[in-house]
Amino acid sequence: MTEATIIDGNRFSVGLRERITTEVHALRESRRLTPGLAVVLVGEDPASQVYVRTKHKRTVEVGMESFVHTLPVDTPEHELLTLIAGLNSDPAVHGILVQLPLPRHIDTQKVIEAIDPAKDVDGFHPVNVGRLASGGEALVPCTPFGSLLLLKDQLGDLSGLDAVVVGRSNIVGKPMAQLLIRESCTVTVAHSRTRDLPDVVRRADIVVAAVGKPGMVRGDWLKPGCTVIDVGINRIANPDGTSRLVGDVAFDEAVKVAGAITPVPGGVGPMTIACLLRNTLVACARQHRIALDE
Ligand code: NDP
Repeated sequence: MTEATIIDGNRFSVGLRERITTEVHALRESRRLTPGLAVVLVGEDPASQVYVRTKHKRTVEVGMESFVHTLPVDTPEHELLTLIAGLNSDPAVHGILVQLPLPRHIDTQKVIEAIDPAKDVDGFHPVNVGRLASGGEALVPCTPFGSLLLLKDQLGDLSGLDAVVVGRSNIVGKPMAQLLIRESCTVTVAHSRTRDLPDVVRRADIVVAAVGKPGMVRGDWLKPGCTVIDVGINRIANPDGTSRLVGDVAFDEAVKVAGAITPVPGGVGPMTIACLLRNTLVACARQHRIALDE
């Protein structure tokens, strides 16, 4: 039996970042304009610190300005809102990202809604959520957008295909479903209350797993030849005490049934930051009414 094509998110994201670098260089040359991304981190969560450092590094690599604001864990909510108001009106800042999760005393939704929708490069503001659903000019959440780019690169035209998205979070599942509807797929959104999930998944030409449960989607749930996008990132312990990252799909089983599949790590993961940079470039261009080949 032939094994599935492995969809190489590392390779695709390198290419995407190269194209962004070229566009940033062109903006600087022709308009004396440098896209700027502000990232705000509240507290010292180690995983969040790693994410913020990586975002800063990648932002600088593509030639953009990076502004990192690190605030103590006990920062009052009103101080964070004041910082965001300042970033909203700063012309050097075209994109604003507040690293989640926030400490419990801060109202996350209030913070998201304080960001100017034109600078909301995470795509979580209700204005962008609404525009994605209703067909307007949205900034689209990075992980689902990166997943869509990989799907289109692999399959070309997606119209008419049956897609099942497992997971309905605001960050991944729901925007992923909206993007697939926009591509004219027939979309089913499954979640923890879905009855007979294996049977639902078995109908799909495209399976997107965004659950947070290691190896939950099994090989015998898949339609032979389908395309699998595994968004899950789960750290599990090895017998020798070390640990490793796995996805939400049982990869060793799925690779024998699917036509193409993203690995974890090296699939969707690297696309997220590349799409954040793309959103920053798009936000900058839109704020200056510059046409980009999006
Ligand atoms: P959430 O916990 O917010 O959502 C998980 C979803 O999975 C929920 O809709 C939940 O259903 C559903 N679910 C949970 N258990 C089951 C089950 N047994 N059967 C069917 N559905 C189930 O997670 P996120 O969407 O934020 O993240 C999902 C995964 O993606 C995680 O592993 C996360 O680490 C990863 N991730 C990866 C990113 C990347 O850059 N590659 C970025 C963001 C996330 P219900 O709504 O009913 O509770």
